[in-house]
Amino acid sequence: EKMRDERIKYLTDEKRIKAITVCFTDLEGRLHMLDYDKKFLLKSADNLTFDGSSIRGFSAQAESDLRLNIDWGAFYWLPSDIFGPGKVLAFSEVLERDGTPYHSDMRGQLKRATEALYQKDGIVFHAAPEIEGFLFKNRDAERHYHEEGKFEFISIGGYYHALPGDALRTFIDKAAEAQRAMGFQNEKDHPEVAPSQFEMNFSYSEAIIAADQIQLYKLLCRQVAAQLGLTASFLPKPVTGVNGNGMHINMSLSKNNKNLFHDKAGQDGLSQMGWDFIDRILTNANDICLVLNSSVNSYRRLDPHYEAPNQIKASANNRGAMVRIPFGNERSARVECRSVAPDANPYMVLYTLMKTGLEGPQPQEDAETKRSRTRFLPDNIYDAVRFFKGSQFIAQTLGESVQGKYAELKVGSADRCPKQLGTRVKEAEIQFH
Ligand code: GLN
Ligand code: MG
Ligand code: MG
Ligand code: MG
Repeated sequence: EKMRDERIKYLTDEKRIKAITVCFTDLEGRLHMLDYDKKFLLKSADNLTFDGSSIRGFSAQAESDLRLNIDWGAFYWLPSDIFGPGKVLAFSEVLERDGTPYHSDMRGQLKRATEALYQKDGIVFHAAPEIEGFLFKNRDAERHYHEEGKFEFISIGGYYHALPGDALRTFIDKAAEAQRAMGFQNEKDHPEVAPSQFEMNFSYSEAIIAADQIQLYKLLCRQVAAQLGLTASFLPKPVTGVNGNGMHINMSLSKNNKNLFHDKAGQDGLSQMGWDFIDRILTNANDICLVLNSSVNSYRRLDPHYEAPNQIKASANNRGAMVRIPFGNERSARVECRSVAPDANPYMVLYTLMKTGLEGPQPQEDAETKRSRTRFLPDNIYDAVRFFKGSQFIAQTLGESVQGKYAELKVGSADRCPKQLGTRVKEAEIQFH
């Protein structure tokens, strides 16, 4: 509330700000934005409504009116050279008309779950994403997927290449500058393994901030690329024969600023709590796979030959393993889940990983057997849907209505995808967001 009053005062006083972009995310992870004129917003900030019936995965016609509750803590200045002058952006929670949480709003779900964890045990869930993307030559390349050769590389640069004067370099520099202007704690940026591929890393933060930043990162990369007449694509596997785009999720838990995953004496420097977290994720990997890999296209990415893991196991150095334990110290000890694609719903991903790591059922098997047995993730979306739909754990964690609705959306898009899979990406595989 204090935050709310401060921001309202700021908006009132700051003459340069003309509009506020209010954001929310649908069940499949698409970011939606409404731009409110400042004068209007200041009058009606506590009473914003919208029609949810036209948003895929949101309400049915009969329950179409939903409310937006601005999260005044999730407030970002938009750099004017990228987004135009006079705008700020705020994330919001989606509520039913009567003010109760709307069940398909995964951001609200994640926020409530992380707050509850803190209230109950004083524990904070931290996450840092590593989001890979491609830079393609054509403007709107994804929208012309059906035309041969539209995914054309703009650069032949590969892993850590220097690339003076190269378009990929220009793009990375501009995007990094936009990130800084928006308050990201940048760490490192680099061309990735595949030609024309990039990755920009920023510091870990509380899960809700990390998920918001995933949405902002993709938004600003697309915007910067469009300004250059290019396309930034976060499709998991746009081009066959080269690496795809991953969204590795690094996670840790802390209490009183102490990293609970760190134990110098533990295996790979990880505490028992860290290993339990890993074991629960591996045990329930099939059930949660559809959340982490949510599109037809993401199953094409999961190929260890391209550093995208399909093996349900943990390892300190094998990049074909779903979970990797990066070399870490007291501050950086963490668990990295690599089998996540950048077109997944980031709120749903972080919520599900946190719930699974902390509360997922564990069989009565000793940890050693569990870790060493090689099992594989589903290699197609239909199998992933079957695991997801049949999961008692998913029903408990996401709720039966989200379980049903999400599975239905996924089967729908898989059915629209032609059965004869050629080398080109098909319409239904692409989620625009
Ligand atoms: N592109 C790989 C993936 O899809 C990761 C490669 C890397 O980070 N070195 O996950
Ligand atoms: Mg990386
Ligand atoms: Mg990478
Ligand atoms: Mg990584």
